[in-house]
Amino acid sequence: MDADALIIGAGPVGLMLACELRLAGVRPVVVERLAQPTGLSKALGIVGRSVDTLDCRGLLGRFQDRAAVVIPHAAHFALIPLDLAKAGDIGLRAVFLQQAATEEILNEHARDLGVEIRRGHEVTAVHQDPGGVDVQVTGPHGGGKLRTRYLVGCDGGASTVRQQAGIAFPGLEPAFLLRLGDVTLEADLTPADLPDVRVPLVPLGSGVYRVITTEPYPAGLDRAAPMTLDELRASIRRANGGDLPISEARWLSRFTDSSRQAARYRAGRVLLAGDAAHIHLPAGGPGLNTGLLDAVNLGWKLAAEIQGWAPPGLLDSYHTERHAEGERVLLHTRAQGALMSRTDGRVAALREIIAQLVGYEQPVRHLLSLMYALDTCYDTGTADPHPLAGRWAPNLSLATSTGATSVAELLRPARGVLLDLTEAGMFAGAGHGWTDRVNVLTARSASPPAAALLIRPDGYVAWAASPDTTRTDGLRHALTTWFGAPAS
Ligand SMILES: Cc1cc2nc3c(=O)[nH]c(=O)nc-3n(C[C@H](O)[C@H](O)[C@H](O)COP(=O)(O)OP(=O)(O)OC[C@H]3O[C@@H](n4cnc5c(N)ncnc54)[C@H](O)[C@@H]3O)c2cc1C
Repeated sequence: MDADALIIGAGPVGLMLACELRLAGVRPVVVERLAQPTGLSKALGIVGRSVDTLDCRGLLGRFQDRAAVVIPHAAHFALIPLDLAKAGDIGLRAVFLQQAATEEILNEHARDLGVEIRRGHEVTAVHQDPGGVDVQVTGPHGGGKLRTRYLVGCDGGASTVRQQAGIAFPGLEPAFLLRLGDVTLEADLTPADLPDVRVPLVPLGSGVYRVITTEPYPAGLDRAAPMTLDELRASIRRANGGDLPISEARWLSRFTDSSRQAARYRAGRVLLAGDAAHIHLPAGGPGLNTGLLDAVNLGWKLAAEIQGWAPPGLLDSYHTERHAEGERVLLHTRAQGALMSRTDGRVAALREIIAQLVGYEQPVRHLLSLMYALDTCYDTGTADPHPLAGRWAPNLSLATSTGATSVAELLRPARGVLLDLTEAGMFAGAGHGWTDRVNVLTARSASPPAAALLIRPDGYVAWAASPDTTRTDGLRHALTTWFGAPAS
């Protein structure tokens, strides 16, 4: 074996997964076809539950320090404005940072953790057998084969790993084409100098603006043909009815509202995460949120499998949990695409109704929670579970015998946490057999939402005790379900 886990793709998802595996004690190898990062950015920010997840790994400060522009988060559903103030405190956080910087930070974190990244190596073929996976790789010094126990495709929407593993990628064809240009304007003009320009110009710093046009998908388009500045200019002219005085383009690209999802996120020893598992319109920026949450869901489960303590079904729960979440992302991005793709009177009427509905608290809360994965609830497999079971663990401020801490801080080592919030410490003892996998702690909280919480390494509650519970058999069951048998 060359590796216990081989990750294909050093995009944000592959890097995050590598860090999670490393924190859990596994030494993954990452293979990336680019010799160097491009320095270009698809995403301009990270929004939603993944921001809380970065906080739980102690990384959020690094992202916030690098966020060049602090802009208020202007949320929208299909460009229909959503008033965040109307939603009340739903705990939605955002960091506005270009994807190139996100990848730089994750690269630094991976380097600090000792992750091996082989750049300039492209995977061309994959073959699995019951004992492992053979991966054909071409690099600067020719071709070679790597053998791994588990292979994870984090290699983007056109994933070679997905295709080689024979995993179907069903979905919808594109209805419209978006053309993107990161451009500078002639004579250092700014949008303020161009009051008649109707296409939005998003400032990226250093005089660069992002412009995106949307048009019906042209029949017979050759997607392989490189996009040109003339193509962007012509599209802007059609959208704007006039010219945008562009002097230069730093990056030109096309993307669509095509939406697809891998039929399986696991096929034997091959797994998929991020864009390799799901593609959709980047409306509202769900791509990084979903992909980073895939990585953090998978990391500890794959590590458990590799280290031999995974309970039955733990690794398969990655597909069950994250495929269902991917379906929800396709649901709202497809709905947004439909609302944005046509401008006839019927769609305009529908948009108007939605604009009216989001004037009320519950609809706007519902949409924001759906779009940013704030309402995710994984099935914990227990009858009559506590309302927190399966949900994101609240970030409680805690007093312990060694000082103040918080749930987010307790999750830094990416291990399970058994948090006993009773004065008598009634539940901590039940965790005795699992202390090699779960950190057990007794603490006080000003407003405990439960008598005790068992929190998974990815920040979700596996089990919680209601205030009148004194029994620990449910806790032992949950510990065994998620963390395997107790140590003898
Ligand atoms: C225009 C646009 C704007 C977007 N805006 C946002 C936004 O604001 N917010 C947001 O959250 N998301 C946004 N997204 C989506 C977001 O950029 C993606 O979801 C994100 O990049 C997915 O990360 P990933 O690591 O899964 O894949 P990728 O970023 O695609 O990384 C895949 C990596 O795998 C490598 N690779 C591919 N094939 C091979 C191979 N055979 N061998 C070795 N390496 C290989 C690639 O070189 C690449 O480095 C946007 C997308 C687009 C197109």
